[in-house]
Amino acid sequence: MTRPIKAFVDTKALKDNLSCVRQKSSQSQILSVVKANAYGHGIERVFEGLRGTDGFGVLEVCEAQTLRDLGFRGPIVLLEGVFDSRELEDCSRLQLWHTVHCNEQIDWLSRHKTHKPHRVFLKMNSGMNRLGFKPEQFKSAWSRLNALPQIEEISLMTHFSDADQEGGALAQLNTFKHHSQDLIGERSLANSSALFLNPQDPDITQDWVRVGIALYGGSVNHPSQRASQWSLQPVMSLRSKIIATQDLKTGDSVGYGSTFTAPKAMRVGIVACGYADGYPRSAESGTPILVNGQLTQTIGRVSMDMLCVDLSTLEEDVRMNPLGSEVTLWGSSQTGAILEIDTVAQHAKTLAYELMCGLANRVPFEVIADSN
Ligand SMILES: *Cc1c(COP(=O)(O)O)cnc(C)c1O
Repeated sequence: MTRPIKAFVDTKALKDNLSCVRQKSSQSQILSVVKANAYGHGIERVFEGLRGTDGFGVLEVCEAQTLRDLGFRGPIVLLEGVFDSRELEDCSRLQLWHTVHCNEQIDWLSRHKTHKPHRVFLKMNSGMNRLGFKPEQFKSAWSRLNALPQIEEISLMTHFSDADQEGGALAQLNTFKHHSQDLIGERSLANSSALFLNPQDPDITQDWVRVGIALYGGSVNHPSQRASQWSLQPVMSLRSKIIATQDLKTGDSVGYGSTFTAPKAMRVGIVACGYADGYPRSAESGTPILVNGQLTQTIGRVSMDMLCVDLSTLEEDVRMNPLGSEVTLWGSSQTGAILEIDTVAQHAKTLAYELMCGLANRVPFEVIADSN
């Protein structure tokens, strides 16, 4: 038997999550964000489930190339624009839309030779203070771009820093509106949380929403609300098996550092999954985990290739005969029981985003096709 760990990508869940996004923004177009190799899922693996999208948002030219190679002909936006002038050639060749967030990018454009002028997304720094033109400089950047023969169309964008909080997008929205009001162009403001917390709000959801985490089934505002409360389904499931068991006496410890000591006689299962697979080492004893679809918890430290689970609370058949039992680290079990990735992330003091993106290369994937 090969090592039993495997990650699954559920195509039907992706389609359903995309429909859920669509319902919240029926007037707008959806850019499905597939940066970081589709948040760790693999662009090739999510492509089928995201066929219904209006466009894609990517970080790197190679991701755009992958989408073109898969046959996608619609809009693809480089979310941070080009990193050097040479990448403008790629934009021309692959017909990419690209963000313009600084004057250097306009300089490069002004020297770029292209048969077909580009569509760009001019980015305002409305308060996040990472990328973008200051609100007071936005209009002059727009005018500079508008004068270039290399430019066909200018859209206006900004990005919210606190959209996962109720009302958290308001201050930035007002700044954006105030400093862009006379400028012509389509707008792109909302990420997943801005969209879900302000559904159908024309100011926030106009004209292109840029949605990542919601498509992959992560909550947009954990822990206030869970993914299931937003009707989002897990797309990535990480499953493995129990490869050994240990019967502990009271006072026995488990794992490196002996951080867990058995308070009573108990049976533990050893799972073929560790931090070298992308399971967070910061997840302490007590992190939820499913064995045969039943909820239990991890005990002791996560090591490189293994972690331990408490079997003592499980139904008798698994408890007596645990070897080979299915373990769900996050996502759904084969029987459909769900352990939300946000819950695991919270126990590890991180976010679903980081867990998805951090899945290790050594974990094999399987795409579950949509049976319809
Ligand atoms: C990553 C990213 C998004 C998507 O964010 P989610 O929170 O995953 O929806 C949207 N816009 C920009 C500019 C991004 O970089």
